[in-house]
Amino acid sequence: MDTSAAQLPFAVIGAGLTGLSAAHHLARAGHPVRIFEAAPAAGGALRTELHPDGWLIEAGPNSLQESAEVTRLLDTLGLGAERLRADPAAKNRYIVRDGVLRALPTSPAAFLTSSFFSFGTKLKLLGELTRRPSPRTEDLSLSAFICEHFGNELVTYALDPFTSGIYAGNADLLSARHAFPSLWQAEHEHGSLIRAQLAAAIAKRARGEPSGPTPIISFRSGLASLPRALVSSLPPGSLELSAEIDTLLPQPDGTWLIRWFRSGTACTERVRKVLLALPASALARLAIGSPGMPTSLASLDTLEHPPVTSVFLGYRRADVAHPLNGFGALIPSIEKRSLLGVLFSSTLFPGRAPAGHIALTVMVGGTRRPDLARLPPEKLLPIIRAELASLLGVRGEPVFVRSTAWPHAIPQYKLNHDAHLDVLASAETRQPGLLIGGTVRDGISMTNCLAAGAKLATRATA
Ligand SMILES: Cc1cc2nc3c(=O)[nH]c(=O)nc-3n(C[C@H](O)[C@H](O)[C@H](O)COP(=O)(O)OP(=O)(O)OC[C@H]3O[C@@H](n4cnc5c(N)ncnc54)[C@H](O)[C@@H]3O)c2cc1C
Repeated sequence: MDTSAAQLPFAVIGAGLTGLSAAHHLARAGHPVRIFEAAPAAGGALRTELHPDGWLIEAGPNSLQESAEVTRLLDTLGLGAERLRADPAAKNRYIVRDGVLRALPTSPAAFLTSSFFSFGTKLKLLGELTRRPSPRTEDLSLSAFICEHFGNELVTYALDPFTSGIYAGNADLLSARHAFPSLWQAEHEHGSLIRAQLAAAIAKRARGEPSGPTPIISFRSGLASLPRALVSSLPPGSLELSAEIDTLLPQPDGTWLIRWFRSGTACTERVRKVLLALPASALARLAIGSPGMPTSLASLDTLEHPPVTSVFLGYRRADVAHPLNGFGALIPSIEKRSLLGVLFSSTLFPGRAPAGHIALTVMVGGTRRPDLARLPPEKLLPIIRAELASLLGVRGEPVFVRSTAWPHAIPQYKLNHDAHLDVLASAETRQPGLLIGGTVRDGISMTNCLAAGAKLATRATA
C-alpha cells in the first residue's frame, strides 16, 4: 500500500453499538474513520423515546452490564454523571412457577434455605462443588450442559426462562460452547461452575474491583445516550447516514472501494480497510470481492433470528397489586403462558414513568411463540392484559402503550454455529483488509458489542 493509500480512512459499516465502538476506538487512536449507516439515525437496536407526558420508553434493549471496559469507555465519553445504577430491588428476579411469581434465590446460601427448589436439586448443587475439570471437546446443548451440573429442575425453572429472557431462544437448541462461552470456559478450568464463580469473585477482589455481580446500568435520558456520546466523540463528518452499503470491491493496491446509493445515485468511496459491524442478514446481502474472486456470506442468512415484540405499558400505580420490587419476572416454557417475561421498568431505573404511575415492558415471541410477535398490536394487547391481570394483579386499562416489533431480534448460536464462524474466518482470509465483528460472532449483549467494536479496531490497526 503506497503512502497516499495509507492516509485513507478506515470504513466501518453499521452504526449500531459495535460499529460506533469500533469507530470511536479508531478515532481515539488518531486514525481517520468513516462510518456508514443504512438508517437515518445511528444506534441500531438502541432506541429510546422520551414522551412529553413523562414516559421514557426503551423500544429495544433496556439495560447494560457495566464491565470494567464499559466503565472506562463511559469515563472517556464523559457519560459518568448520566449513568444510573439499577435500583437495589432489581436483585430480586421473579420466576413464574405454578402460575405465581416466586423470587429466585439470589445467592448459594439463599438457594439452600429457600423453598424454590427441591431437596434433590439442592443436593445436586452441593455435589456440583466436587466436580473436577474434565476437558470436553464435543459441543452440547445448553440444557444438556446445565442438566449435567445441576439437574432438570434448574434447567426448567432457571435456565429455560433466562435463555428466553436473554436470547429469546430455546436452551435445548442453543450451543453451550457458543451461547454461554464463559460457562464453557469455567467448566474447562474448574470443573464446577460454582467453584469457578467463587474463584472469579476472589480474582476480582484481588484486582481491586468492587465485589458482587456486574452492575446493571442505564442513563438518565435512556440507553440512546450511549450511541449519541459515541457519535459526538468522532471527528465531524465521520458519520454517513442513510448510506446502505451494498458492494465492497478490493483494489489492486490493497485498498477498498465501497458503494452505496443515495436517491438512486451510486456513491463510492475509497477506503483503507473495511470493518463490518452488521447483523448476519445484512452481511448475507453484501456483494464482496472482485468478479474474479467473489466472497459470499449468503449462508449467514440461515442463522436464525426469531421475532420479538417489546410492549411498553404505563399504568396508574393504584391499578397494579404487585409491589414490583424486582427486575421483573421471567416465565418458563413449562408454564405455557403467552409472555416470555415482563420487566418492572420503573422500578429498575427512576424517571421512566410520571408520578403516581408505573411502567412495565413485556416481551413476547422468540423461538417459543414467534406467532405472537407477529400479531398486530390490537390483537396482542388483550392477550398481554389478561396475562398481566393474572400474574401481577393489574386492573383496568393501561394509560400508555408503545409496541415495537423486532422481526429479526437475536441471533441463535445453535449447535451448528461453528459453520457460520468458519464462513466468517474464510472470508477474512480470502479478502485481506476485510474484518467482521458483532453479534454474528462476538456475543449478543451490548457489553459484548462494545468489546467487539474495540476488538475490530485493534485488529484493523495491528
Ligand atoms: C428487543 C431487544 C432487546 C434487547 N435487550 C438487551 C438488553 O437489555 N441488554 C443487552 O445488553 N442487550 C440487549 N439486546 C441486544 C443488543 O441490543 C444488540 O445485540 C446490540 O445492540 C447489537 O448491536 P450491533 O451494533 O451489533 O447491531 P445493530 O444494533 O443491529 O446495528 C447494526 C447497524 O447496521 C445498519 N446496517 C445494516 N445493513 C447495513 C448496510 N448494508 N450498510 C450500512 N448500515 C447497515 C443497521 O441499520 C444498524 O443500525 C436486545 C436486543 C433486542 C432486539
